[in-house]
Amino acid sequence: MQGVGFRPFVFRLATQLGLAGFVKNTARGLTIEVEGPASTTQLFLRRLQEEKPPLSLIRSIQTASLDPAGFTSFQIESSADEGEISAHVLPDVALCLECLKDIQNPADRRYRYPFTNCTHCGPRYSIIEALPYDRGHTTMKSFSMCGACRTEYEDPSNRRFHAQPNACPACGPQLELRDARGDFISMGDEALLKTAETLRAGRIVAMKGLGGVHLLVDARNQDAVIRLRERKGREEKPLALMCSSLEMAKELCEVSPLEGELLSSMAAPIVLLKRKGKAKIAEAVAPMNPRLGIMLAYTPLHALLLTELNFPVVATSGNRSDEPICIDNDETVERLRAVADVFLLHNRPIVRQVDDSVVRVVAGRGLVIRRSRGYAPSPIMVGAKNPPLLAVGGHMKNTVAVTVEDAVFLSQHIGDLDSKESVIAFERTGTSLMELYGIKPVTVVSDLHPDYFSTQFARRFPAPHVQVQHHHAHIVSCMAENGLDGEVLGVAWDGTGLGTDGTIWGGEFLLSSSESFKRVGHVRPFRLPGGDKAAQEPRRAAAGLLFEMLGENEFSKSDFFKKDRFSKPERDVIKNMLAKGLHSPFTSSMGRLFDAVASLIGVRQIAHYEGQAAMELEYAQEGHSTDKAYRFDVAEGVFNWELLIRGILDDVQAATPTGLISAKFHNTLVEVLVDMAKRVGVNRVVLSGGCFQNAILTERAVARLREEGFKPFWHEVIPPNDGGLALGQAVVASRQMATRQMAGQQRKGAI
Ligand code: ZN
Ligand code: ZN
Ligand code: FE
Repeated sequence: MQGVGFRPFVFRLATQLGLAGFVKNTARGLTIEVEGPASTTQLFLRRLQEEKPPLSLIRSIQTASLDPAGFTSFQIESSADEGEISAHVLPDVALCLECLKDIQNPADRRYRYPFTNCTHCGPRYSIIEALPYDRGHTTMKSFSMCGACRTEYEDPSNRRFHAQPNACPACGPQLELRDARGDFISMGDEALLKTAETLRAGRIVAMKGLGGVHLLVDARNQDAVIRLRERKGREEKPLALMCSSLEMAKELCEVSPLEGELLSSMAAPIVLLKRKGKAKIAEAVAPMNPRLGIMLAYTPLHALLLTELNFPVVATSGNRSDEPICIDNDETVERLRAVADVFLLHNRPIVRQVDDSVVRVVAGRGLVIRRSRGYAPSPIMVGAKNPPLLAVGGHMKNTVAVTVEDAVFLSQHIGDLDSKESVIAFERTGTSLMELYGIKPVTVVSDLHPDYFSTQFARRFPAPHVQVQHHHAHIVSCMAENGLDGEVLGVAWDGTGLGTDGTIWGGEFLLSSSESFKRVGHVRPFRLPGGDKAAQEPRRAAAGLLFEMLGENEFSKSDFFKKDRFSKPERDVIKNMLAKGLHSPFTSSMGRLFDAVASLIGVRQIAHYEGQAAMELEYAQEGHSTDKAYRFDVAEGVFNWELLIRGILDDVQAATPTGLISAKFHNTLVEVLVDMAKRVGVNRVVLSGGCFQNAILTERAVARLREEGFKPFWHEVIPPNDGGLALGQAVVASRQMATRQMAGQQRKGAI
């Protein structure tokens, strides 16, 4: 791995052992030649692996004996741009403690300098244009180092030896503050102090950081947060917070040791935490939500600003709703002038947008829900060497992936491919991954859904096109992350994905391998009046479910329409659609079953963001711990929810607390899962799909499966939602190609 202080480590080790030779970066990785007695070179090889720097990861070591070249000393040689590119790009790394000390020390030449970094921290993926990772290949190339920086950069004993973005106030990037017209206000530390003043006054700041622009506002100021929501066009979706320290986060939320580690990790993601009752945070930050998403200041710029403020700020992606974040200065002012009052920008260009990652703790470990800064583009090693291919992911929460030999590089979070901006970011991300790793895909892989933008892109792409079923891709993404091969029972529960029979799937039991699957079970299908519109309206899923259960006559007369879920005209439209089967596709979606239950028990009728109803159902049951479940019925692989729904309706009649109903509902689903696992009789059970972002569902499923002697697998660094699809697609297509190739060779052998 490059850029983690490996070469200075090699230098020190070789020098210490009295070995001569050299070390250099190449596109293939690191090349070391050492010359000396065999016993010492063996010792060198051993200590190389045992004492490697903390950020480094050795994928493989190949050694060869050469004739003595007569080296007299050990040198670090400059990089050679040659060979096949296979070194990895590191993710961006959060500010390290030593650099934090530097910027807080008045005697240090980097005192209050917001672009301080070293070999152990700072930007990587967001500034790299090409491999190998050298300054000339980053957006730091336009800054030429001053004498003092150059000396550090060239001194192997210095923490900043070959730190590619190395900079100081004399030679590096600078801050500048602009108003909403784009006119210059101030620069440097004055710009930072003015920004703090602006935030204290309750105004909105757009701030360019590491992988893009944040919108910032005082998180304690209700009016200011509401203003931000109005201008950004974001009604209820929770906003992330940034704190200056772990202590500040602990004042707002309960932070377990594991959550503390995640917050302070090198990735420094947003961690979903349980909010404390007394947390002084504006209600509008996360309306009616018992969780807060918090991250710690992760660059010197954020650290300086947050320390100056000493209160938490909302730090949300600098975009209008659901578009990719801004990265370019002029584009930022252009796109956000109606949202932000001032703009804190800087002149270090960002090559690609890298959003904040989101993590929550599930079943005793972290679960990445949005994989971006700090995680992407770390590879997922898949064991076999694969031909280069491009996987384009799904439609929502899109990511793309490329395979390079035995690694799959999954991109950072791109977003939903609904806007012009997201589509541009999608194409750019794919192209730049292919360029970085110098690959020309022999195959392009997409979802089955013909209407996804990503599928249409794949169709136009100049390479053979392979399609992978949505839920199979989910399961294989989880298998790949867990290093599983062979046959598993895949439980893929999510919103929607196109099935091989042309209907909408989403509550699936798939007997899967990495290359194929058989659908062995599913949720009993019901109609979704209005199709895609039903995803935003849990009440529609409920209507479809009841229609399926009761039939037309009983449904029309049912209590469902007595409550004011629908206006009179809406009611007629829905009834008519269902009766005639118009715009009402069948689905076996578990996500829609969650929606239907949320509507039936009065938790939510209309959702303002994806997954809101399911999230509210999950949170509703806090404090209602029970082992009770509803009755259910599984026959011939079909989970019939009728008994479950009747049980829930009885409980609603009996005025059972909503939280208790929700808990029993979750328990029932887990029992369905266990029942199905017993019927299928495969020991390894793989849980994937957006429903498994639900901590209670996942934790209970894991516990019950173990109790019954199964071996459950779930996600950790790959999102269970559609953000992980591209990985699954890449692996499925690779395995299918390998099998075809083998079959071809066998045929040839037979001839
Ligand atoms: Zn550092
Ligand atoms: Zn300098
Ligand atoms: Fe999905």
